[in-house]
Parts: sequence; C-alpha cells; structure tokens
Amino acid sequence: MNRRNLPLIFCAVVVLLSALAIAAQSNSFTQTNPTWVKPFPAFRIAGNLYYVGSEDLAAYLIVTPQGNILINSNLASSPPQIKKAIESLGFKFNDTKILLISHGHFDHCAGSAEIKRETGAKYEVMEQDVPVVESGGHTDFHYGADKSMWFPPTKVDRVLHDGDTVSLGGTTLTAHLTAGHTKGTTTWTLDETEGGRTLHVVIVGSPNVNPGYKLVGNRTYPQIASDYRHEFEVLSNLTCDVFLGAHGGYFDLLAKYDRFKKGDKNAFIDPEGYKAYVADRQQAFEKALHRQSSAAHK
Ligand SMILES: [Zn+2]
Repeated sequence: MNRRNLPLIFCAVVVLLSALAIAAQSNSFTQTNPTWVKPFPAFRIAGNLYYVGSEDLAAYLIVTPQGNILINSNLASSPPQIKKAIESLGFKFNDTKILLISHGHFDHCAGSAEIKRETGAKYEVMEQDVPVVESGGHTDFHYGADKSMWFPPTKVDRVLHDGDTVSLGGTTLTAHLTAGHTKGTTTWTLDETEGGRTLHVVIVGSPNVNPGYKLVGNRTYPQIASDYRHEFEVLSNLTCDVFLGAHGGYFDLLAKYDRFKKGDKNAFIDPEGYKAYVADRQQAFEKALHRQSSAAHK
C-alpha cells in the first residue's frame, strides 16, 4: 500500500462510515415513523406556496420569478423525494436559491448538505441553531451525545436573527424565534394572495416538549422554560389564516388534503385550528413544567 494514499483511503472510509450511519439512522427512525418517508402528492397550498414534503415531514416551496425558496430538507434520504415532488409540479430543483429550516433536528435539516451541494442554494439559519447544524447535531443541548440523531454537518451562509426577513422575487418571509424545542426553532410567516384575498400563513417550527427534555435545572439549556413561554406568547400573537408546520401532524395535513382534493379550496384556511393547537401545546408544556417543578421540590 502506498503511504501517500493513506489520507485518501482514510477519507473514503470516513465517507463510507457516515453513509452507513445515515442509512442506519433512516432505518431505525423510519421503522417507527413510516410516514416520514412515505411519498405524498405535491400540491399548491395558496398563491406561490406549495407542499413538497412526505406524508409527515413537511417541506414547502415558494416559487418566485427569481428562483425558489425551500423550507426544510428533512432526512438525509429525503432530497431525491423533495426533488421529485418539485419536478412533479413542473418546477426545477436547481432553481432552489434559498434553503430554510424549521429547526436543527435531523428530521428537518439532515438533507441540507446534499441540497446545498446539488442546487447551490444559500442556507439561512436562525443564529441559535447555527452551531447545531454546522456540527451535524453534536452540539444539540439534549441529543448531542446521541449518535442516532447526528446528521451531515452543513455550513450556514447567512445567520438569521429574530424578526429577520428573507426576500426573493417579490415574496418576503419573516423568521420568528420560537425556541424551546431547539434553541433556534423558527416559525416562518408570509402573506399569500388567493382569490383577491390576503392570507396570513404561519409555518410553526415546533412547540413540543420531547420525551426526556429537562425543563427544570437544565444545565445545557438553562433558559429552556422561559424560551417555551416566550414561544407561546409569540405564537398566540400571530395572525394566522393558513395553518402549517414542520410536521403534517401539527395541522392535520391528511384530513385537510382529503377535503382539498374533493374541491374544498379553503381546506388549509384554519385560524381556529391554529389557536386550538397553540393552546393545546401550551397546556401540555405547562403540565410538563408543573410535573417537573413539583418533583424537583420534593
Ligand atoms: Zn424536532
């Protein structure tokens, strides 16, 4: 063996091992969550906003004359599925100019490295999630040591801050920091025009407290509880007509799509459903916090 080839061989082994790790990750999680990889028909939600995700992992495409914005890259195995969904609508995957995410967990951002590589899209991420996506999940406050949650590290091209806007070809999105689930969880809002009416679209980043999350005495995320409280305040104050989120399950994608397919053009207009969802998630958070606080004071 030529010694000069050693670094090359080492690189090849690293690439192979990370590919195997990603394959293993996809297998273990998709066995428990088959809807994460189950293809779903791409469709136009309102104005220039389209659904291009799987049955439960949501991805959104905003089509403009200057190229497109994609929200969420999903699993490391998802990019071919997202590409297919975009092409089924008659658009080009390579027209993706900006890539955004809901938050820095592998089920929403593991495909980012590949999408950047293939399309050259600019990756724009909320400041507090930047270290997580750039380290491939190694610096996540809760899952950092859990290999099964790691993903390909991806360089961020623009660091976003709370209230920043992302504009392209006449469409502007606003990034709302709604942290707690991750330190940089982002809820996206934008306006769409449909039938002469302006619709306020809200894409919820995640209001959920995952199993095992420490809301009291969290050493790696001391302000987690106050961040969740702030998130619910922000979400409660948003005006929402079209209710969307990082997972189809948040906003009942299947039932709404079914109505939409049967001709209900307003199936995704659901201000009441949005309010009820936020209230329900806030209650779940308060309950978890109360349980953990009482246990800590015993
Ligand atoms: Zn998550």
